[in-house]
Amino acid sequence: MSYKITQSAEETKQIAAELAQLIEPGKVISLRGDLGSGKTTFSQGFAKALGIKRAVKSPTYTIVKQYPLGEQGKLFNHIDAYRLEEGGAESIDLESFIDDVTITLIEWAEFVIDYMPETYLEIELEAVDNDERKIQVRTVGQSDDYDQLRKEWTQNWKGL
Ligand code: ADP
Ligand code: MG
Repeated sequence: MSYKITQSAEETKQIAAELAQLIEPGKVISLRGDLGSGKTTFSQGFAKALGIKRAVKSPTYTIVKQYPLGEQGKLFNHIDAYRLEEGGAESIDLESFIDDVTITLIEWAEFVIDYMPETYLEIELEAVDNDERKIQVRTVGQSDDYDQLRKEWTQNWKGL
């Protein structure tokens, strides 16, 4: 699998922005990684590149935050499922937030795994040093669309 090492939060945001520039509405992305690995930082770079001006924070009390995109009717969902670690995933009705006009980014998707769509992009972030993060990505399920997106996004990354 190919991977990318970033040396700063800014670089992680830049990598996220590159994905945002390639992605189409309807797509779902899972962000995995320990606390502090950079999931929210990634989400911020991603959202900014989608043209969202409001700051994307780690929602403490809200699990789902919806942002309108520039194009009429299109939306960006930022979901942080961390608070569902102890259960309660059914209460947020994840499926109702995912549709053809919406781009969805989910931190801690492992806590809503039973409600995830059949196919999505899974990005894993790992702290390898103070400011160094390793980023890896795979397609979950069978999807030429996601495979194509992944290949375009990672074409300059290092191979293993
Ligand atoms: P998470 O949402 O995974 O818990 P955050 O994005 O909230 O993680 O926090 C990541 C922290 O690590 C931030 O303080 C960020 O500035 C810092 N950081 C340092 N280097 C990097 C890097 N290469 N990529 C992303 N974040 C980094
Ligand atoms: Mg976070």
